[in-house]
Amino acid sequence: MTDLATHLSKLDGHLARFRGTGILNLINGKDVAGSQTFETRSPVDESLICTVAKGEASDIDAAAKAAKAAFPAWAAMSGAARKKILHRIADLIVERAEEIALCECWDTGQAYRFMSKAALRGAENFRYFADLAPSARDGQSLPTPTHMNVSSRSPIGPVGVITPWNTPFMLSTWKIAPALAAGCTVVHKPAEFSPLTARILAEIAHEAGLPEGVWNLVNGFGEGAGKALTEHSDIKAIAFVGESRTGSMIMKQGADTLKRVHFELGGKNPVIVFDDADLDRALDAAIFMIYSLNGERCTSSSRLLIQESVADEFEAKLVERVNNLKVGHPLDPATEVGPLIHKTHFDKVTSYFDIAKSDGAKIAAGGAALGGDGWYVKPTLFTGASNDMTIAQEEIFGPVLTSIRFKDEAEALTVANDVQYGLTGYIWTNDVTRALRFSEALEAGMIWVNSENVRHLPTPFGGVKASGIGRDGGQWSFEFYMEQKNVAFALGQHKIARLGA
Ligand code: NAD
Repeated sequence: MTDLATHLSKLDGHLARFRGTGILNLINGKDVAGSQTFETRSPVDESLICTVAKGEASDIDAAAKAAKAAFPAWAAMSGAARKKILHRIADLIVERAEEIALCECWDTGQAYRFMSKAALRGAENFRYFADLAPSARDGQSLPTPTHMNVSSRSPIGPVGVITPWNTPFMLSTWKIAPALAAGCTVVHKPAEFSPLTARILAEIAHEAGLPEGVWNLVNGFGEGAGKALTEHSDIKAIAFVGESRTGSMIMKQGADTLKRVHFELGGKNPVIVFDDADLDRALDAAIFMIYSLNGERCTSSSRLLIQESVADEFEAKLVERVNNLKVGHPLDPATEVGPLIHKTHFDKVTSYFDIAKSDGAKIAAGGAALGGDGWYVKPTLFTGASNDMTIAQEEIFGPVLTSIRFKDEAEALTVANDVQYGLTGYIWTNDVTRALRFSEALEAGMIWVNSENVRHLPTPFGGVKASGIGRDGGQWSFEFYMEQKNVAFALGQHKIARLGA
């Protein structure tokens, strides 16, 4: 049985190498120190993990040039050869899954029980897109009586990938694997709060035989390295995961170079529970979808819409379970909720406790910091809320659930759609006709009926409204990372208009 002490001792071994040099950038296959550094600290106790190279515009320029130089050969490599390398990356992720999970937990505060799976999911992402690499360029033949149209796809060029700090390892693989499978080269700018596993991942890629310059890692801050990446003329597209207002900034920054953008942004996702649902399963799913991953999850069900007729009983059970969640050290296998990523985020999340009170909602559970070291907050439930309250409208991004009661289906739909976001929705009902009707009208990119978020990689992932632009998954990822070309061949002597004859 692996326990906290064993995890801590293994972690210490894994971190030792970072303590000397710090985390360096990886540009054109070479380690590059930044002209300046910043520190990454653990949210568990604020202790220094290591220093990190602080990339600036000049580092981004070097990385973009390397990605540009590496692009022709990587794009020309057969899909079968790319597939082999991507599978090798997946193999190495699996070999180092424990190290990745331990580092991720320490760097982000996420609980080990979830991060061990997230590391393996990163390998799955690589395997899935590896298998698609040989067919990535495939197109269609679209004949007419006069012409044979033949379409094909080709990789767009060097791309920038900008990722956030929540489940950073898994999200990086989710964006980078399809880019490489498509034949693009990459400059990755990971979040400044969680640089550890992005470095391990880039090292794995090189160990797996990825040619120099195909994958470049530049650490740094959004306003420095991130901005420079979005503005660089050699970078053809930006795949971004993060906050909606950052997405808006990136769109402006990329305008001069006509950047193609793909945005996976914030959410304020409803879980709608009707009185005819299997309420025990709905309760399990609602709790899982907001309190797992510390609630720092774009697809979290942060608004509970509960039908009045069952609300008292449902909320009472909820309070009991929320108070019973195991908050603790992220490396303790028993922990369900760890500390929030950073003081800045802790301040943001805890500020909603006062906002809830002044909004007029009731704090039915939690509503305070845990106290002691680390950025821990008590899992929190707000009840008696209405949808116009700030706690129902803004993405809190912590283990904080806002419960809103509704009378009937029409009211549930109005409330569900009355937010700026539209990432996911979760509908609980045993009335199949209602489920169909409701899911049709619900403004969200992804909806689960009688289920928590269960991902199937070929399905489209993404949001509507302020939750994003574009989709990932299966062929949708290739649509973003590739250009379409159509060639029309005349089949014979079709009539050509003769002007000036
Ligand atoms: P963030 O927007 O603050 O930062 C994300 C990344 O963008 C970081 O790497 C940051 O350095 C960079 N960045 C910041 N300013 C930039 C700029 N001007 N130009 C270029 N890059 C810049 O987001 P965060 O706080 O790290 O992550 C949490 C957010 O991410 C939440 O809103 C969450 O919902 C969202 N998210 C969405 C999805 C999804 O699939 N829709 C998935 C995970 C997270």
